[in-house]
Amino acid sequence: MESYAKSLCSFANYLDISVNLEEKSLAVLKVFKELEEEARQFTSESGLGCISGCGACCANPQIPASPLEFLPLAFDFYKKGIAESILILLDSDDENSNCIVYRANSIDNKSGYCTNYLNRGMICRLFAVSARKNKYGLKDIIICKTLKEAKNAAFQEATNRINTDLPIPSASKFYMLLDEIDSSLTQQMPINKAIAFSLELVLRYKFYEEGIEEGV
Ligand code: SF4
Repeated sequence: MESYAKSLCSFANYLDISVNLEEKSLAVLKVFKELEEEARQFTSESGLGCISGCGACCANPQIPASPLEFLPLAFDFYKKGIAESILILLDSDDENSNCIVYRANSIDNKSGYCTNYLNRGMICRLFAVSARKNKYGLKDIIICKTLKEAKNAAFQEATNRINTDLPIPSASKFYMLLDEIDSSLTQQMPINKAIAFSLELVLRYKFYEEGIEEGV
């Protein structure tokens, strides 16, 4: 009896997730657009953009992300007819594989490019364009070691300026905006797991939606 109740409950959750999944994906894209707009001034004044061809972050399989931030990517894969094959690839991948969207072009994996830059996740968008507060209440730029070392003078100057006159997007604000869309899909996990989770949701959603259209 208890398990029947449980399964009803998870079915209800599933329906809730599925019914609005496409709208949630559009809402995520809106959050990304807002982040991009807020980051424009910081990026142009700080000069802290990523180094061209660097993929050191993308090559880290443990980079944390949530299923929600990869809904636009999962819908894009679905539209291109590759959602199932990517999911099969992800299911057979081991835990040390880097982001499925990343193509490395160096032996150490640290140089390469994103094959779906338009639909990359929130974590991919926050590096070097956003800040979080430290324990002294000051803003710290969220940045990788590579960029901090390669553009150290720009990094030091931007660190001073974001606490005086240069606006920078707040990472926690943008994570909160994602939470407002659907907090049940914002749990953090290794990036490929987040992408796989998102693909499963989209495939189930489409399966369900097509079933309704065909009157099944
Ligand atoms: S989605 Fe693109 S930018 Fe984000 S980790 Fe993967 S390869 Fe890097």
